[in-house]
Amino acid sequence: MELKHISKDIYDVEALRSDFPILGRTIYGKPLIYLDNTATTETPRQVVYAIRDMYYNHKANVHRGVHTISQEATMMMEDTRERVRRLINAPSTREVIFTRGTTESINLVASSYGSLLSEGDEVILTEMEHHANIVPWQLLRDRKGIVIKVIPLAEDRSTLDLDAYKKLLSPRTKVVSVTHVSNVLGTVNPVKEIIAEAHKAGAVALVDGAQAIAHMDVDVRDLDADFYVFSSHKMYGPCGVGVLYGRSRLLEAMPPYQGGGEMISSVSFERTTYAELPYKFEAGTPDFVDLAALHTAIDYMSAVGVDRIATYENDLLEYTTRRMMEIPKMRIFGVAPGKAAIISFLIGNAHHYDTGLLLDKLGIAVRTGHHCAQPLMRALGVEGVVRASFGLYNTIGEADAFLTALKRIAPMLS
Ligand code: PLP
Repeated sequence: MELKHISKDIYDVEALRSDFPILGRTIYGKPLIYLDNTATTETPRQVVYAIRDMYYNHKANVHRGVHTISQEATMMMEDTRERVRRLINAPSTREVIFTRGTTESINLVASSYGSLLSEGDEVILTEMEHHANIVPWQLLRDRKGIVIKVIPLAEDRSTLDLDAYKKLLSPRTKVVSVTHVSNVLGTVNPVKEIIAEAHKAGAVALVDGAQAIAHMDVDVRDLDADFYVFSSHKMYGPCGVGVLYGRSRLLEAMPPYQGGGEMISSVSFERTTYAELPYKFEAGTPDFVDLAALHTAIDYMSAVGVDRIATYENDLLEYTTRRMMEIPKMRIFGVAPGKAAIISFLIGNAHHYDTGLLLDKLGIAVRTGHHCAQPLMRALGVEGVVRASFGLYNTIGEADAFLTALKRIAPMLS
């Protein structure tokens, strides 16, 4: 995909914004300032057109049809698989499994790979995980009697205590499952190092890439990840679809996650044999419409350039953080160097919800609450925080409007 407003020297954010119709909205008569990109990113019209094109021209069930549009739909979905493979540098499309998103991908691994674990086997998580990377392992604990161990935060309350991690590893460690980027602190974890340590201990490593995929180049081979998972809706793509990358050797040894059509080779009442990878893990009709459109979202992101998006967002992050710290009683959570463009904060002891509501009245969309990371909230000693997060289309003008709003509401809150 070519984007006219992007060249080697130009990052024309206004032109990029014009691709996102929702950014033209007003809220309470004020222009929308969308700072909730960690929860979901907005969608460019190119992706919406791709969805419409599927419904208008190519909607037929995939894989089963000899007729032309079924073959077109199949080809479009499979093209996305190859596009995802290239995006993350996976060795083979057999290792790219389509799911409903990060949550389902982790549930698939915890349930299927987890079924190969035994009572007393250990799974290591971190204190900064999203509930999506905690609860599936607890369900496994209930089923199989595994033991969950947790890497704590370091003293800076932003990074992981890697010495503690090394001490947690044992011959019983079977899985290390860690987020690439914290959805609250913005911390970019040293996952390559974490994976290497896991492998030394004989464990496999899963990386939750939900917050990484739209903000940095991801190379599963370089990371040496065994599983890498992410959601389309956090990368300017459609809702309801996502990816599980898995090492083929592991996927082959794993039992299917769900049974049904598409995932079989042959079925009789006595015995069923399963399809080859990746289809063994894709029971039922996939969301081929949104999967086809995910291709366009990846092309869009790549046309802008993920590294350029990261640099641009980082400038916004640094500017906004520096100016926020000038506001009396501002408490910012997450100070790791090189963090992603996520700012979690509280103003004094003001309730996060009140701050979010007041910002909304000024047209500014931020997220409030525990951000599906209650153990992290406990570690930080808070019940919830306000979170502002940037995407490729946010502007310095929006950052200024956000800062002005914060200055205006801060005295009301204290
Ligand atoms: N993991 C992290 C780090 C997240 O930030 C999120 C969503 O915010 C998830 C997992 C869950 O993603 P989804 O709801 O798309 O499955």
